[in-house]
Amino acid sequence: MSESTRGRPLEGPREWCARYAHWVVLGIAAVVIPALQVAGEISIEFVNMLGRYMAFAIMALALDLIWGYTGVLCLCQGLFFALGGYAMGMYLAHHGPLDGDGIPRALYVVSSSVEGIELPWFWKPFKSLTAACALGLILPAVAALIIGYFGFASRVRGVFFAILTQAVTLAAWLVFCRNDMKLCGTNGLTNFVTIAGFELTNPRVKLGLYLMTLLCLVASYVVCRWVVASKLGRVLIAIRDNESRLRFSGYKPHHFKIVAFMLSGMIAGLGGMLYAPQMGIFTPKYMEVPFSILVVIWVAVGGRGTLSGAILGAMVVNLIYNLLTSRWPAAWPFLQGGLFVLVVLFLPNGLMGAWQQFVRPGKQEEETEDEKEAEELPDNALERVHSLSKLKSQTLLGGDLLRVENVAVLFDGFKALDIDEFAVGHRELRVIIGPNGAGKTTLCDVISGKTRPTTGRVFFGQTEITSYPDTGIARLGVGRKFQTPTVFDSLTVYENMKLALPGQFKFSRNIGARETSEERDRIEELLQRIRLSEKRDWEVRYLSHGQRQWLEIGMLILAGPMLLLVDEPAAGLTDEETVLTAELLLETRNEHSVIVIEHDMEFVRLLDSHVTVLNEGCVMAEGTMAEVQANEQVVEAYLGR
Ligand code: ADP
Ligand code: MG
Repeated sequence: MSESTRGRPLEGPREWCARYAHWVVLGIAAVVIPALQVAGEISIEFVNMLGRYMAFAIMALALDLIWGYTGVLCLCQGLFFALGGYAMGMYLAHHGPLDGDGIPRALYVVSSSVEGIELPWFWKPFKSLTAACALGLILPAVAALIIGYFGFASRVRGVFFAILTQAVTLAAWLVFCRNDMKLCGTNGLTNFVTIAGFELTNPRVKLGLYLMTLLCLVASYVVCRWVVASKLGRVLIAIRDNESRLRFSGYKPHHFKIVAFMLSGMIAGLGGMLYAPQMGIFTPKYMEVPFSILVVIWVAVGGRGTLSGAILGAMVVNLIYNLLTSRWPAAWPFLQGGLFVLVVLFLPNGLMGAWQQFVRPGKQEEETEDEKEAEELPDNALERVHSLSKLKSQTLLGGDLLRVENVAVLFDGFKALDIDEFAVGHRELRVIIGPNGAGKTTLCDVISGKTRPTTGRVFFGQTEITSYPDTGIARLGVGRKFQTPTVFDSLTVYENMKLALPGQFKFSRNIGARETSEERDRIEELLQRIRLSEKRDWEVRYLSHGQRQWLEIGMLILAGPMLLLVDEPAAGLTDEETVLTAELLLETRNEHSVIVIEHDMEFVRLLDSHVTVLNEGCVMAEGTMAEVQANEQVVEAYLGR
């Protein structure tokens, strides 16, 4: 709920709701409910049920961190939850009634060879509460590390990652169900009697567990809140918005995703640990596929991408479930499906989105109003561009910065690119033109490591980068602007710029340390240049197309690249915006080399630079604009059209 309180002043009861609703809810959960229970007004069973649902809410919170904020849909929350639950369950089983040679009864019952049964080695550590609690966090974290390492590093994404996690969860379920694994099989862990010496059947202990779960829920919320508001959180949101932009800025998104996934796993494990003693039994059913899907439904209903939404969703859906299954059990599956469909169709931001709309009505309209505000353009922009284009680059160092040799790219036998030689010097501004489908973008892809050439070699300075990964090429100093602007929509203009600071791609720079005052000055200076100073605190989604293009160029310049690849920066811009874009590229050309791909001849004339013409994947001509325009082949293939 605190997510909604930023921004313009609020009035009346709605302001009150926005400010205090979460404190009211917390007060009810922490004081009113326990007091009513002690006074005998509500049953301990009801309190126990709320405690269990709060354990589910902890798991939903964990899913929201990885799905809502990082954009990774995973269907293994049940696995993490169950690992935590099993850790605690094994501790509880150890301290329940024992059979044979100190064997927990649940294990004794399902063991295939009852004669001479021994306690398996992996059961032993769970005798200690401290060790069980630590393992309840460590085991899900390790599982997340393994799944994340193999999944994220090999760039398994979207629905494929969801399926991968579901397959792993299903596999774990099969393992846990087998009696010969000595994990109590399908019967699960039972006979829980005491926890840390307290009787689990005692209502006071039940109330204590409820309060402990509430405390852990609040603590998990605070940790998640802190993470998403930190620098690390900005990177996670950036991954959700545009993972490839990050990669082409030198980041290794899988490192960040693995950390978030491990944290998510640990929090879900904590949920499981709190659930087991309150439920009194723990079975492998939480590893069944539908359970992990249920968690996704809770988060979607509550509001993906708001932490309080995840908690709300888990509580509301489970309370409705509880209400219905005691009266009309058959109706539940239909209602649950219907609820999900309704939310997806009518409340895309879930219940929390509807709540925020209630406490801050008109936010949307206000922002679209602002969007219409036209950008003031200076009158003399065109003259400035002309004079800038007359100033030739100053220091042309010897040798080439970029060399492309005999490169061919085949797509299923179709030759999209076939270049014998293409080179760009230090601090050179080069324009590549050519009709649609000429292979211009493919050439950029080859240089930036997005596409591997089928044959040939690419050199950047003295380094051969033909088989370098995209992040490696970005870290060498190649900045890439995509045809459609790739910026981080949910972050502000300033936050976008911060992510582009030189060296910011290192993981260690994204925990703790703030940007230095020099870095802040550099960002401010660039914001001036790209004319976004006024909008520094705007979420990027509210910017116009042109402003997004400039922001992306600004981010690239900020990173201090040696070579900028700029793919059709003028596409979709107004005439004024085109002029300003040309100015921006010309202003900085003494700082780095630039390759500009362009379709718009007006724009190319403004840049007035050396031009390479591509046609059907081959270099057709090279020279000044005048020379190229005089080339008959070029006129026929492109300019004359
Ligand atoms: P341009 O940017 O010059 O308009 P592109 O480099 O995008 O052209 O594309 C060059 C040719 O390669 C086009 O014919 C396009 O259809 C083809 N092409 C580009 N990418 C792929 C791909 N991933 N798979 C198959 N064909 C592709
Ligand atoms: Mg293209």
